[in-house]
Amino acid sequence: MRLILLGPPGAGKGTQAKRLEGRFAIVQISTGDMLRAEVAAGSAIGREAKAIMESGQLVSDDILIRMLGGRIDRPDCARGFILDGFPRTVPQAVALDRLLAGRHQRLDAVIELRVDAPALVERIAGRFTCAKCGAGYHDTFKPLRVAGTCDVCGSHDFVRRADDSRETVQARLEAYARQTAPILPFYAAQGLLHTVDGMAEIDAVTTEIMAVLDGLPAATTA
Ligand code: ADP
Ligand code: ADP
Ligand code: ZN
Repeated sequence: MRLILLGPPGAGKGTQAKRLEGRFAIVQISTGDMLRAEVAAGSAIGREAKAIMESGQLVSDDILIRMLGGRIDRPDCARGFILDGFPRTVPQAVALDRLLAGRHQRLDAVIELRVDAPALVERIAGRFTCAKCGAGYHDTFKPLRVAGTCDVCGSHDFVRRADDSRETVQARLEAYARQTAPILPFYAAQGLLHTVDGMAEIDAVTTEIMAVLDGLPAATTA
């Protein structure tokens, strides 16, 4: 099964992608995580991307398309994948269609998580993740069960993203509205777009996504 989770920063794409990974034994591909790994490694891509990401703008289509093309050919994608954070522009969406067609693959669904702007700002401001296992949390909406300790792996180290500041959020929301939202009609025209209420609680959003997936024609696994 090949899915796209689409939605503005903070909509819950990463949170839901991790849950779907477990249920369908398919991998989450987060281009934001891939770029942050490049920045941490100090690679050529990382050096080019760092300042752009910190300002809340989008990294160039060229870099992202090359990066994604390499990623979907890895063996762990054989059963399918969940794209989280890609495509983010119409040229990226067009390139993805071409990449998949060249591999005789197709998308099963594009799921849009719809969340209003004030909620996005709250979610981003309170977001943090486990430095060791990557589990995602929120100060208010998904707190640690035991203070200072990761629910999943027991680690005591947590990270907050440099671009998750209230100042950068506005630029990221504007980039979504201007550059990413135009993808929605592109996928609606292909009959692939399903919109889910992302304002609901985390479990309820998962239930709604599962209902969409259950209603699809037999999903492709190859
Ligand atoms: P969020 O969780 O807020 O949706 P991501 O982790 O997906 O953010 O992305 C963080 C940043 O990485 C983006 O603001 C952008 O600078 C860059 N980035 C990630 N994916 C893409 C992409 N597909 N195209 C361009 N830039 C991207
Ligand atoms: P995205 O990947 O779309 O940027 P995340 O999955 O990282 O979004 O979620 C952003 C923040 O909001 C995280 O701190 C997460 O724990 C929290 N969150 C995710 N989904 C919900 C939800 N349905 N209700 C409340 N908070 C949520
Ligand atoms: Zn952990």
